[in-house]
Amino acid sequence: MASSSSSSGGYSGSPCAACKFLRRKCLPDCIFGPYFPPEEPQKFANVHKIFGASNVSKLLNEVLPHQREDTVNSLAYEAETRIKDPVYGCVGAISVLQRQIMRLQKELDVTNADLVRYACREMPGIPMSGAGGHPSLMNAPYYGKGSGDLRPNPDIYYPRRYDRDGNYTGEQDGGDEE
Ligand SMILES: [Zn+2]
Repeated sequence: MASSSSSSGGYSGSPCAACKFLRRKCLPDCIFGPYFPPEEPQKFANVHKIFGASNVSKLLNEVLPHQREDTVNSLAYEAETRIKDPVYGCVGAISVLQRQIMRLQKELDVTNADLVRYACREMPGIPMSGAGGHPSLMNAPYYGKGSGDLRPNPDIYYPRRYDRDGNYTGEQDGGDEE
């Protein structure tokens, strides 16, 4: 992820986006310089709005130089999502992805169970009633427990403001599990 020039070698003479925004002189050793190029003014504007320039500067000084680019990219992502969704920020996106994973896991379990059932049907030696005791069915974590038990981790925080396709609905819709 880290690109080649993460030191101040990228200094080009024009003020970085941070110094331009803060209306101050951009010195060659500017801590923001390598990570906030002038052509991406919104990146710094977002980060400044959410975290504050001095906090960002402190944070950058606390991490090792080779970690700064990732730090800035992470802050920029968090800031952008927080601006788009003041309530959940990037947690909203994470939760949507977690729900997608659970949905796909559920589909996978059902499909695996179907596969086992079909495989058993083709094996004359194994009676159909034995399908429930098939080793791979026994290993399917959610098989036969009913849809209410399909959550791998009940502690995961799930905002209900996203529909099953990850679209923002903006309102509580209670339980929407099928
Ligand atoms: Zn600067």
